[in-house]
Amino acid sequence: MILRQALQSAAQTLCGAGVPDAFIEAELLLGHVVGMSRTQLYTEPDRSLTSVETEHLHSVIQRRIDREPAAYILGHCEFYGIDFCVEHHTFIPRPETELLVETAVKLARRIATGEGQIAIADIGTGCGAIAISLALALPHAKVYATDVSASALRVAETNCRRHGVRGQVELLLGNLLEPLAQTVDMISANLPYVKSSDLNHLSPETRCFEPSIALAGGQDGLDRIREMLEQVPGKLNQGGCLLLEIGQGQAEMVTSLIRSYFPQAWIEFTSDLGGIERVVQISPAESA
Ligand code: SAM
Ligand code: GLN
Repeated sequence: MILRQALQSAAQTLCGAGVPDAFIEAELLLGHVVGMSRTQLYTEPDRSLTSVETEHLHSVIQRRIDREPAAYILGHCEFYGIDFCVEHHTFIPRPETELLVETAVKLARRIATGEGQIAIADIGTGCGAIAISLALALPHAKVYATDVSASALRVAETNCRRHGVRGQVELLLGNLLEPLAQTVDMISANLPYVKSSDLNHLSPETRCFEPSIALAGGQDGLDRIREMLEQVPGKLNQGGCLLLEIGQGQAEMVTSLIRSYFPQAWIEFTSDLGGIERVVQISPAESA
């Protein structure tokens, strides 16, 4: 079989099995098997696959038919233009979370002192996508990245090394803000926010393969956010702020939650490309 045929047949098989974006996924999987980028596949369409490659292709296509996300099959994915290793115990970074990074970078440039010194904590860092993106965009920032999952932090460490930010990003194991030994100027967090009743309605890729500790937010989805807001006093410098990702339809509830902890807070939402209020910026008025 040659690449052109392999691509067509893989796309047809995936499409027939109801896998979304079958053609793009076929390109990704075939490229992974033969060690070529998606564009390279088109430069040598008549190249033959070896028997080992053909067998490997069949096995990865079967995994995708079983709804394993392509990022886990490939072992990496792109976020904010950066390549990150992901494994089964890490959540796969989502495109909508790039809005959190974009907002954090803009805000950090505004509140940083001197050459850009600022201390940031990324809570629930997973594979380190937010923390590392911030470290690369803000070379004078010190980033503390926490997670309750030791295996996720091991992947974050690999990603820090790959991107040369091991000295800039400090990885801390523990519950939310608890492992932070010093105060910071900004807290970013994409914590689990899926309501218990919604967990069963997630895509099979997410429901069956991604760690539930990364998704489950309790009855109203806000358990981890509530717990983190409780921990903010004593962790945030005067004039500091928090940036949180939230889910569709949670803005109102999140606003009253924030008001209950910080009655004077400045609260601002930013919507994603789908018009969903996705990122909330909180500036607690008083020194927390
Ligand atoms: N920040 C990554 C991203 O945006 O791609 C991962 C986000 S994932 C939705 C949530 C992360 O929070 C997971 O890595 C999970 O292990 C972590 N987490 C869940 N409960 C936590 C807790 N109590 N303290 C610290 N991290 C927690
Ligand atoms: N947006 C995620 C999803 O795929 C949920 C992320 C989260 O809980 N932080 O459902």
